[in-house]
Amino acid sequence: MRFWFGIPLWQRVIGALILGGLTGYIWGPGAESVKIVGDVFIDFIKMLIVPLIFFSVVSGVASIGNLGRLGSVGWRAILLFVATGQVAVILGLTLGTLVQPGIGVDASGLQMGDIPEPAAFDWRAMLRSMIPVSPVGVMADVQVLPLIVFSLLVGVGILLARGDVPDDDEAETDSGVHGAAMIARAFDGGALIFQKITILVMELTPFGVFALMAWVVGTLGIPAVVALGKLVALNYAGCFLIIGVMYVGILAAAAKVSVAGFFRGMIDAIAVAYSTASSSATLPVTLRCTQRNLGVSKPTSSFVVSLGSTINMDGTAMYLGLVTLFGAQLFGVDLSWADYFTIALLATIGSIGAAGIPGGGLVMMGAVFTAVGVPLETIAFVAGVDRIMDMMRTATNVTGDATVTVTTASMLGELDKRELASAHDV
Ligand code: ASP
Repeated sequence: MRFWFGIPLWQRVIGALILGGLTGYIWGPGAESVKIVGDVFIDFIKMLIVPLIFFSVVSGVASIGNLGRLGSVGWRAILLFVATGQVAVILGLTLGTLVQPGIGVDASGLQMGDIPEPAAFDWRAMLRSMIPVSPVGVMADVQVLPLIVFSLLVGVGILLARGDVPDDDEAETDSGVHGAAMIARAFDGGALIFQKITILVMELTPFGVFALMAWVVGTLGIPAVVALGKLVALNYAGCFLIIGVMYVGILAAAAKVSVAGFFRGMIDAIAVAYSTASSSATLPVTLRCTQRNLGVSKPTSSFVVSLGSTINMDGTAMYLGLVTLFGAQLFGVDLSWADYFTIALLATIGSIGAAGIPGGGLVMMGAVFTAVGVPLETIAFVAGVDRIMDMMRTATNVTGDATVTVTTASMLGELDKRELASAHDV
């Protein structure tokens, strides 16, 4: 027991990946008998989708404080978050379309159930399907888009109910306002609880990964391994392009700061992000780097970095676009233009809703897949290599948070550029 937990989870996962692949290769189609373990693992991941989105989106919106406080910092930061996120998703979709990593594998043997029929595009129906007529029904049916709409509204409702309270005293006298503040805290608690449950579920990863790899390789053979290798390579290429072209461009052109100074100042945070695969766990280091090494004021960096660590995940957005195309290619699902649009939208929303924890993006995949009819078995297929990709996504997400923070501060003229230029002294 102690020996098992003494090995870091990601190493156990990589070990399971290799052992599972070997087992499948030797055992052949018979390896299907261990698939049940992988099924159970995926069922647990599915279990997390609804509560994780509900609690973290509500708690994220409510934590902004009040509607007015978004102010000038908030708008600039959010515009930058959205713009970079869009470029990232488009990059993921472009890489997936050009390289087609999922072509060449006949994955039909992997199907566990019926492939959901992608709905024909009808904008009226699409518009109405986003409205959570029955919030409970939406949760019961795991309908992600209306669930996010509902969660956003609950968050805004909390902000409005609590918004005009200048201090706690008044809250004490108005039980409604007091209650809203308590509910906001309860959502923070709920978000934390489900993050912890996610970590527990992630402990199943080595077992799930072993079983899934054995099954995938046993059933599909080596082409499957080649396809996964291509996906991992594309994930890294996409992240390097986001950092090396988009962020460097923004830093040089919009923030007008020394790019070398920026990376020198951020190296600690990037290393922690890469090794922990968690934006949330890296948050304290990112804060310290932006304040001490990059010369951003405390209020601006606290606000933008913490907001960014939950809603700004460009690496995750790029990956969600890419992996959805991968799944569609794998299972021969034809995607229409409307589907591409839906993927772009949901990958963006998914990256906003993803928790900054290892595997946060993996949980969101189910949401995007279901919307365009890509079988959830794709999760089984990629789960084994997700950690290696997650590390790079997270390093990208954290670099993006700092890029937006520095740029916002620079636009507002509150960046101490001398500090940034001398980042190597710190
Ligand atoms: N692990 C990532 C993060 O914390 C989220 C993801 O899985 O993409 O930023």
